[in-house]
Amino acid sequence: QGGVSMVLFFVLLHILQTDTAERSELDSDLRAALRERQFVLYYQPQLNAANRVIGAELLIRWQHPQRGLVGPGEFIDHAENTGLIIPLGQWVLEQTAAQLRHWSDEPLFRDIGLAVNISQKQFRQPGFVAEILALIERHGIAAQRLELELTETLIVHDMEDLTRKMNALVEHGVRFSLDDFGTGFSSLSHLKRLPLSKLKIDRSFICDVLTDANSETIVRTVIALGQSMGMTVIAEGVETEAQRRFLADNGCSQFQGYLLGRPMPLADFCTFVQRHNA
Ligand code: C2E
Ligand code: CA
Ligand code: CA
Ligand code: CA
Repeated sequence: QGGVSMVLFFVLLHILQTDTAERSELDSDLRAALRERQFVLYYQPQLNAANRVIGAELLIRWQHPQRGLVGPGEFIDHAENTGLIIPLGQWVLEQTAAQLRHWSDEPLFRDIGLAVNISQKQFRQPGFVAEILALIERHGIAAQRLELELTETLIVHDMEDLTRKMNALVEHGVRFSLDDFGTGFSSLSHLKRLPLSKLKIDRSFICDVLTDANSETIVRTVIALGQSMGMTVIAEGVETEAQRRFLADNGCSQFQGYLLGRPMPLADFCTFVQRHNA
């Protein structure tokens, strides 16, 4: 009996130690990656009902020297837990602003908006508002081209601070969208108080919108809700033409998903825009 529990104890200890070792290795790898500029931003096109590209969501990838392209699912949570998300998020915003600046006098590109995912921890930084305003100023970009994606998890925490910060940025033209809408716990009263310009219907509802009656109802309701509140509604994770048609028929005005275009490197996105909007 005692022997068995001793063995179990050491097995557990070993698991814990390896886990911690792997975690701190990931941590130092991520710090090195930031220094050595191994992160890249992929652009996923967002189209309107007339099939014109109106913008892109920027999705981070890690170009790992050995492992190849690593998706955010493998490091964003970790970066959020260790605080590395702060410098990483700053890097994403810098890149975005520089790209907007670069496009500002190119007719085909100057109306393209770029949407950036903002993590909770990043948004909660006391200097967040000042930092965004400084970024816009420094790069001389039109604030309207910059869209910040927030998730509902942020809302449940501190509505007061959240609204104050959002309003301060909206006053300068920055736009906000609510990401993964429908998966969190935001109430309608929250929704009414926040200066949001866009709702993003979560992919989980889009994927079975044609086969699951509940998803269909949720999708219809969210579209109607967004419309009645004067917000743009965008569907994410659109994979089939039938889904796109259903969404468009029900008043959804923007679309993002593999059907329209996968997340792609900048050069491919530029070609994509030329093909669709020229
Ligand atoms: P998200 O913001 O919900 O991004 C959408 C995810 O769905 C992306 O995964 C995208 O590649 C994927 N996707 C888009 N269209 C389709 C589709 O038609 N079908 C399917 N099956 N998937 C689709 P990705 O790039 O792996 O990003 C995962 C998450 O990582 C994002 O979810 C976002 O929460 C986070 N993330 C990505 N980039 C950043 C970043 O720069 N900062 C922060 N804080 N988070 C980021
Ligand atoms: Ca997003
Ligand atoms: Ca999303
Ligand atoms: Ca999501």
